[in-house]
Amino acid sequence: MGSLFEDALKRVDEAAERLNLDENIYRILRKPKKQVIVSIPVEMDDGTIRVFDGYRVHYNVAMGPAKGGIRFHPNVTLDEVTTLAMWMTWKCAVVNIPFGGGKGGVAVDPHKLSVKELERLTRRYTAEIIDLIGPDVDVPAPDVNTNSQVMAWIVDTYSMHMRKTVTSVVTGKPIFLGGSRGRREATGRGIMFIAREAGRVYGLPLKNATVAVQGFGNVGSVAAKLIAMHGARVVALSDVNGGIYNENGIDVNAALRKVEETGTIVGLEGTTPITNEQLLELDVDFLIPAALENQITRENADKIKAKIIVEGANGPTTTEADKVLNERGVKVIPDILSNAGGVTVSYFEWVQDRDGYFWKESVVNDRLEEVMTDAFNDVYQMSKQHNVPMRLAAYMVAIKRVADITKARGIYA
Ligand code: NAD
Repeated sequence: MGSLFEDALKRVDEAAERLNLDENIYRILRKPKKQVIVSIPVEMDDGTIRVFDGYRVHYNVAMGPAKGGIRFHPNVTLDEVTTLAMWMTWKCAVVNIPFGGGKGGVAVDPHKLSVKELERLTRRYTAEIIDLIGPDVDVPAPDVNTNSQVMAWIVDTYSMHMRKTVTSVVTGKPIFLGGSRGRREATGRGIMFIAREAGRVYGLPLKNATVAVQGFGNVGSVAAKLIAMHGARVVALSDVNGGIYNENGIDVNAALRKVEETGTIVGLEGTTPITNEQLLELDVDFLIPAALENQITRENADKIKAKIIVEGANGPTTTEADKVLNERGVKVIPDILSNAGGVTVSYFEWVQDRDGYFWKESVVNDRLEEVMTDAFNDVYQMSKQHNVPMRLAAYMVAIKRVADITKARGIYA
């Protein structure tokens, strides 16, 4: 099997080539700065000891401390963590926040552990990587199968080692432990700002536009709700159980209530059922894939009828599909730009913790809007200047920022 990292580098190579980047600098950007593997012995509730493999990678820290989540999943590998750390580098750079890229993970199925076992695993993993993390060094966050409780255990473990409370060592914490207002909605809200800006430049204002959203979790449900509040007609929604459709528009608040009551949107009154595949191929103005990776592929790319795709999920469009969509003139606003609202408010959380002064939600949202619209405009200008699709332009903006800083700093010898 090919390396995920080598494959991901191809998009970066293309951007570097278009930028005519200094080869000496680019050699640095193609490498992870630090990759650490740790063994994590954990005493199980039955007294046996299991040893898990854990990873933490700093891909590039030219712009500031490494930033990126920690995932607990049986398939976690060093290759995957390195790739995700590289993506975080470009994501932070594209929205121009002073962070580098990092990622961590433990190869474990957390659903098979008790809460106490999970806590012991989290604390020992934290202790094993303690020299790598810290508010000025590397600031982890939740990712697949980790949440605000896991972050709280990391804060506590780190604080015990430092002999003082340090909440800014991670983001994605509960609000009462230094979390930020507006963080839960930040990714979906960022998607709304990006869809609005894309609609503006491509002549498809959100007001009265038709929208389909795949995935109705943290990202998809908030994006759908806020986009509907801007006057768009959300005609289709879906979750893991299937999709729903109403050409006159779905009441997103009613869909949220339905999920609360039954665990799924399927069966919402006044809608007809559709499949996730059908949802992707609807004739709509905006399509927002906000569920999983690899949803738009070589198989369905030529059937996509949406005019603008705003990627909520990470990696929903494959490289082959990208080519087809570009040829057909579908505008794809890439994940590293569209879903960067989450990491942007994580940055705000870190700033608030370090200041010990917490912002009102309206302040968080206003500052998020400014960061997202500026980032959209930077990428759009790059795309026009070089006549390239938005994905390539986003990589070019990000890589140029990291390259310029690397060049200015020079090589420590
Ligand atoms: P979530 O678990 O809250 O929601 C996922 C949604 O997708 C659920 O509605 C689920 O039912 C649906 N789903 C799962 N499998 C599906 C399938 N096969 N077909 C259709 N729908 C399916 O997750 P989330 O936090 O909303 O994240 C969604 C995506 O956005 C992921 O790719 C994630 O990496 C990415 N993302 C999330 C954030 C964030 O802040 N939460 C930030 C950046 C990127």
